[in-house]
Amino acid sequence: MLSQLKKILKLLKPSKKIIVRYPPSPTGKLHVGNIRTLLFNYLFAKRMSGKIVMRFEDTDRDRSKKEHEDNILYILKELGMDFDEGPFRQSERTDRYVEAVEELIKNGYAFEAEESKDGSGDKVIRFKNPNKKVAYNDIVKGEITIDTTDFGDFVIARSKTNPLYHLTVVVDDIDMDITHVIRGEDHTTSTPRQILLIEALDGSVPTYAHLPLLIGPDKKKLGKRHGATSYDEFKKLGYIPSAFINYLALLGWNPGEGSEQEFFTKEDLTSTFSLEKVNNSPAMFSYEKLDDLNRQHILKMDRKEYKNKVLEFLPDGMKEKMTDKIINLVIRERISKFSEVTKMAEESEFDYYFETPNVDIEKITWKNDNKDISQKHLTKVVEILQNAKDDWVAENIKSSIWDYASEEGRGSVLWPMRYVLSGKDKSPDPFILAEILGKEETIKRLNNIL
Ligand code: GLU
Repeated sequence: MLSQLKKILKLLKPSKKIIVRYPPSPTGKLHVGNIRTLLFNYLFAKRMSGKIVMRFEDTDRDRSKKEHEDNILYILKELGMDFDEGPFRQSERTDRYVEAVEELIKNGYAFEAEESKDGSGDKVIRFKNPNKKVAYNDIVKGEITIDTTDFGDFVIARSKTNPLYHLTVVVDDIDMDITHVIRGEDHTTSTPRQILLIEALDGSVPTYAHLPLLIGPDKKKLGKRHGATSYDEFKKLGYIPSAFINYLALLGWNPGEGSEQEFFTKEDLTSTFSLEKVNNSPAMFSYEKLDDLNRQHILKMDRKEYKNKVLEFLPDGMKEKMTDKIINLVIRERISKFSEVTKMAEESEFDYYFETPNVDIEKITWKNDNKDISQKHLTKVVEILQNAKDDWVAENIKSSIWDYASEEGRGSVLWPMRYVLSGKDKSPDPFILAEILGKEETIKRLNNIL
């Protein structure tokens, strides 16, 4: 009964299951643009309840390395971008490509041409170009028609056993039942050749979506001179996976319908992403915007995870001393990426929590005040703090001093207090400083100066 019903349902719903692919070439560190491409494949597959096939396009035998494969798998894992099948390797599928070459030759779609330059004595295999117009509908770029005549009889293999990119991609896409090819715009020129090959091999042509190029603020292709481009670099700077994914998703995609939303979790993205909303114009990479999103994601981080990340970025010697109060009251609000924690430590922005700072007597006095006024204010502040009964937290400390400070002038009262506690021109506000230092130490530092 049930299986009958399932059969009927299947007949009623003839749409094929969506299958996309992650096809990186393991020849170097993944560029952020490649990661964006993988991400769009991931989001699309998840959104459509489809499947992702992972394959390493390692036909460039000299440049393909295991360490690059490992790095790619590690990035996918860190970003939580899993796949359903693979990883396959093109280098392990040579038999299939040879078969395809032979089939093409047998059916008159390809021929052995001039002698190969690879020294094997074999012949180069060329595709017999039918010299026709190829048309396809790109989800991002729209209707595209290209006259393939200019391509001539292009080479598809250096020799029968040495296939080239166009052939391997096409054979794989056919064998792996790929329904959607989502890739960078730089591959647009490959598409007509690949469609010719697919037709010759009697495969079904997938739907294409070519993603817009990533550019820097100078409108040139995003590269090293603009800043970080590899995942390792971003990670070292202290960007976190959820923010990285969030930002990459916005490079060319937006939720549309007048939505201004920019903060997305991965779950938000997998439920809203659509290729139809991908822009056709180049996407400008903004490190500031990435910072801003990273800051927002840091604020939403689980406390423990956040703390571990802070500790990871603190230099030895500071790791052991660091307290939860400093981590939660000072650092969390300040940083947009974790490398800033290292910088704060290097610029001794934590030192004054652990040892009495050097204070320049001349600097204690606010603007046009004189020493007597500052002394009067500090004395009063000490008196108020000594009598404070509520819990020693910044908020209570603030409300105990606030009325006095407002009457006497906030700068006049609060600057000397803050400066004496930290010895720095810039630091958190005096209430946070006081909370972190504790009542006794706060009063001690103020009294010392008095
Ligand atoms: N291996 C190619 C690359 O890493 C991808 C080719 C494709 O998506 O068709 O750029």
